[in-house]
Amino acid sequence: MSELLELTAAQAGERVRAGELKPAELFELYRDRAAADELGSYLWVADGAPPEIAPASPLGGVPLGVKDLFCVKGVPSMAASRILEGYKPPYTATAVERLAGAGAPVLGKTNMDEFAMGSSNENSGFGPVRNPWDTERVPGGSSGGSAAAVAAGNAPWAIGTDTGGSIRQPAALCGIVGLKPTYGAVSRYGMIAFASSLDQCGPLTRDVTDSALLFRHMVGRDRCDSTSLDYPQEVELPGAEKLDGIRFGIWGLEEEGVEPGVVESCRAAIAKIEELGGSVEEIELPHAAYGLSAYYVLAPAEASANLARYDGVRYGRRNGNGDLTSMYEETRHDGFGAEVKRRIMLGTYALSSGYYDAYYGRAQRVRTKIADDFREAFGRVDVVVTPTSPTVAFKLGERTENPLAMYLSDYFTVPMSLAGIPAVSIPAGLSDGLPVGLQLAGPAFSENRILDAAHALEQAIGFDGGAAHA
Ligand code: GLN
Repeated sequence: MSELLELTAAQAGERVRAGELKPAELFELYRDRAAADELGSYLWVADGAPPEIAPASPLGGVPLGVKDLFCVKGVPSMAASRILEGYKPPYTATAVERLAGAGAPVLGKTNMDEFAMGSSNENSGFGPVRNPWDTERVPGGSSGGSAAAVAAGNAPWAIGTDTGGSIRQPAALCGIVGLKPTYGAVSRYGMIAFASSLDQCGPLTRDVTDSALLFRHMVGRDRCDSTSLDYPQEVELPGAEKLDGIRFGIWGLEEEGVEPGVVESCRAAIAKIEELGGSVEEIELPHAAYGLSAYYVLAPAEASANLARYDGVRYGRRNGNGDLTSMYEETRHDGFGAEVKRRIMLGTYALSSGYYDAYYGRAQRVRTKIADDFREAFGRVDVVVTPTSPTVAFKLGERTENPLAMYLSDYFTVPMSLAGIPAVSIPAGLSDGLPVGLQLAGPAFSENRILDAAHALEQAIGFDGGAAHA
């Protein structure tokens, strides 16, 4: 195995910037690995290194895995849906363009759950992704291809999107770091929409420093996304080694359904927080338990509107016998998978007149309550700490028959999405040989603080992700 694979993306970029490594050599190494990936992580891999990568660029030419949800000009961009088969967008998503401009060229498009709906990557229209820690198990979802590729050393780093947990949960299940930024911190322009009031893109990386580095070059207002904002500070690279004076509020370790091995790893990490000088107390988030119920009204409602555009007229697939109605019906019948159809039906129902207030209106009120819970919590503590996922990676097929069991995967990640606040998942340790993720969340625009805390904790935990590099 090339010793280059041992380097984090930031370290590889430093070598390039120091003139010790040619960007094309680094690109070829990862291109070959991506092309040979046997986990199902990629839906498309670049032919070769882009002609000019400036070695002096801030990201040092380190190639980037890009979730198939992002539009990339001239490159298949399908959100892993058969309905977008063959679609090549005429423009590139702002986040991808900014990262490429800062020196992280696109390595490939990573597999995902269709339209980002799922927690296991089994809902992809192009086959599942396998977890490099145990190939009989799922990598999590929906950014499962990005997570598996990074964990397996088949991408130096990657980006994904998170609507209710899709960066953090697969990061947890694959033993890597995943950051869901504050809503609005990164432009959604060119991200194929799922639930627009929740969707955010962010990094999936081997360590916290890599996440901060990618995040630094993604943020900021974009005139093509009216919900994007200027990031209020410089995004810093984390350097903290101590947690003195930082107050951590723990939530969720006593909740039903959390595996004992997950609780144990999280408790061990929390003990490290105290050793590093952080103060720890249990907190309540009284409405967080209703997060999933609200999410599964709101996200499908928004999805049912966003996915109305796939009618056979404008993008990708067109089926039917030439008659307009048959074109609509057959295109959507053949193009969408079962989970996407379920969400469209749920969402359409929840928005129908007569039910609108009972479902959608009530779910919006729950969302406000959850945001209030966090606001109150952040009056007492600086960082909220929870397990990222109630369980470690589960077996392929284990939850596909039971959507409700699948939905529970996001119990701990959905509340932060509803509140629009940032959260990072870091590896806390192993349970029966499988990674456990710990989630750290803070108030809006506190990424510098949570990444710094995550960095100190990461150093103290000393997690070794090497086992997943075959
Ligand atoms: N698993 C959740 C869902 O299926 C979250 C997905 C996401 O964050 N994109 O909706």
